Amino acid sequence: MSVTEICENTKMGREYALLGNYDTSLVYYQGVLQQIQKLLMSIREQERKHQWQKVKTDLAKEYEHVKDISKTLNGFKTDAVEPPPSSAPAYRAPAPYSKPQEPARDPDVWPPPTPVEHRPSPQYQRGARKEPPRRSDPSKPSNRVSGRDPPRPSGGRGPSQGNADRRGDQRGRGGGRDEKKVNRKDRDAKGSEEGDEKKFDPAGYDKDLVENLERDIVQKNPNVHWADIAGLTEAKRLLEEAVVLPLWMPDYFKGIRRPWKGVMMVGPPGTGKTMLAKAVATECGTTFFNVSSSTLTSKYHGESEKLVRILFEMARFYAPSTIFIDEIDSICSKRGSSSEHEASRRVKSELLIQMDGVTGATGGEDSTKTVMVLAATNFPWDIDEALRRRLEKRIYIPLPCPAGREQLLHINTRDVPLEDGIDMKSVAETLEGYSGADITNVCRDASMMAMRRRIQGLRPEQIREIPREELNLPTSMEDFKEAIKKVNKTVGKDDLVKYEKWMEEFGSV
Ligand code: ADP
Repeated sequence: MSVTEICENTKMGREYALLGNYDTSLVYYQGVLQQIQKLLMSIREQERKHQWQKVKTDLAKEYEHVKDISKTLNGFKTDAVEPPPSSAPAYRAPAPYSKPQEPARDPDVWPPPTPVEHRPSPQYQRGARKEPPRRSDPSKPSNRVSGRDPPRPSGGRGPSQGNADRRGDQRGRGGGRDEKKVNRKDRDAKGSEEGDEKKFDPAGYDKDLVENLERDIVQKNPNVHWADIAGLTEAKRLLEEAVVLPLWMPDYFKGIRRPWKGVMMVGPPGTGKTMLAKAVATECGTTFFNVSSSTLTSKYHGESEKLVRILFEMARFYAPSTIFIDEIDSICSKRGSSSEHEASRRVKSELLIQMDGVTGATGGEDSTKTVMVLAATNFPWDIDEALRRRLEKRIYIPLPCPAGREQLLHINTRDVPLEDGIDMKSVAETLEGYSGADITNVCRDASMMAMRRRIQGLRPEQIREIPREELNLPTSMEDFKEAIKKVNKTVGKDDLVKYEKWMEEFGSV
């Protein structure tokens, strides 16, 4: 048990309390108290033990204090199920992550958040159990179907194309209480067999953020298959083992074989990391949450931390899910580094908390609840150690090998006519050091060469008169050579050395 970790978590617990984020603060305090308890068991020296016991008592007092504040604030909540205005200085968490009275089974693993569908309604939390609830039935799960609900990302295990239409319907309706009841009953009766949609209930959350998340981050159908990705055989195998198989064979991946908490893909830009993440989601039919760190930090300024939390809540709700965090380095640079802003530090902390709550981390009993975090970075050396530890599996996505480059050429030119006798093998040889994205650019350029020659010197109206088939001329070997001259490599040799060194030290394959 690292003392530094205890100090760090205590600091976080206090900071969150100061920021008014009491529920998150409580989770930190709980974790710290459990960590100290564990540490105490290993200490023999009486004096030291005594000192730690005192620290524990003091922190337990702080914990109780924060708990009291949180309880008092909850008592102020009105009956309205509306979330607080987004301009509120500190957000009010809808429900505690865990029940403080129940100690977690494993002191190293903090308790996972209560799944949304198992959460008591706001009335229930306020201790109004004796009174008949006025707005909703506390005994029912909170994932109601409501006319006020914002658009939903997906149905069942994966987003479906028809949702957009259905959304329109729902938005337009009045959505009275009776209707909600009927819908709920109806859904209970039908079950999920008829493609009945599970709906994330925004009650208790910031509705705007839920909407933003659904619009920007939940990807309908990534529709990328393993076969669309050239080469990277080893990466595909590792991802299958780390992500896909645990979903297919949950019984096998238990105990010591528990799925990885998170997987990080490391490598130069344009090597297919995003494609791989999309293929994972497509191949195992999980709901895909495509999060770019820059979107998180720029677009939702000040709200990002809340967004991370809702993101994981939604992912758990629509589980099995894959959360893909691209450019993870941009929110997870080393703690305390000068470039680290307060806001991004909070986002990072929230991410760590949430990652500790994903099913993979607890050895999840129920594979349908699995949330897999897949991250990608071009700058692994910038990543915070705490996060690196949670992204247990670290896979290198290299520049394409000769066979991979040849395959990429075939994939990229499958829809364009080629001249007979093009030797793709020799083209692939000349593309050494090119990334997948560079090769795609070469193919795009080469495939347009013939058209460029045909229209050279012509006026727009003359171009418009050219029959299509005259423009769709086959691409030749010369076209490839020309394109290669124009498209430069984006990855330097020095960069490659840096990746290899990092993988030697931190890689896990
Ligand atoms: P990264 O996430 O590693 O920066 P991307 O997955 O976004 O890279 O790849 C960028 C583009 O390059 C893709 O849209 C695709 O056209 C092409 N590409 C890169 N690697 C591959 C590959 N292995 N197979 C097929 N296309 C690839």
